[in-house]
Amino acid sequence: MSNQLIVLSGPSGVGKGTIVNRLLQKGGYALSVSCTTRDMRVGEEEGKSYFFISKEKFESLIKENGFLEYSNHFGNYYGTPAAFVKDKLKTHDVILEIEVDGALQIKKAYPQALLIMILPPDENALRARLKGRGTESDERIEERIKRYNYELSKKGFYDFAVINGDLDKAVAEIENIINSKKELKHD
Ligand code: 5GP
Repeated sequence: MSNQLIVLSGPSGVGKGTIVNRLLQKGGYALSVSCTTRDMRVGEEEGKSYFFISKEKFESLIKENGFLEYSNHFGNYYGTPAAFVKDKLKTHDVILEIEVDGALQIKKAYPQALLIMILPPDENALRARLKGRGTESDERIEERIKRYNYELSKKGFYDFAVINGDLDKAVAEIENIINSKKELKHD
């Protein structure tokens, strides 16, 4: 497998989606589309944002070893479809945008996967961003901050951590990390 499996994780509100879009615009990358049992949100598209499936279907896919990893996050299943990713890896570096528990499963099964954690400058910056979105209650924001602290406690398992204070800088840093790993592989 010469193309890379790149795992990006980070708390809600850190700007992962924007970073992933920037990388995709540059070309050469494919984004893994996960399966989830959560409801579709306004603006999302089947097969693009996620494959939205039932809990029963998800559980039968687990039994069939259909996922490279999966986890239950805030009461819903999320999983990376194995066949989809293996197929994309034939031609592209594949980005998985997944939370930490799933990322650690990937690292166990594929030690060569590159794990990058995207972090806010600090907890207050994250809280301010979540508040700025104006979509969630204070209670929900505090739940997300708690989850952020849990994710932060797993930072040591990641290959790299990148702070997203300035978007351009964070994207450049991630690209440098990916490219330096590539050079190592081809030397
Ligand atoms: P959301 O519901 O906001 O789209 O995603 C919630 C969380 O699930 C995010 O942290 C996202 O990175 C994570 N996630 C999305 N797809 C997967 C997946 O396939 N596996 C795992 N483990 N986490 C996922």
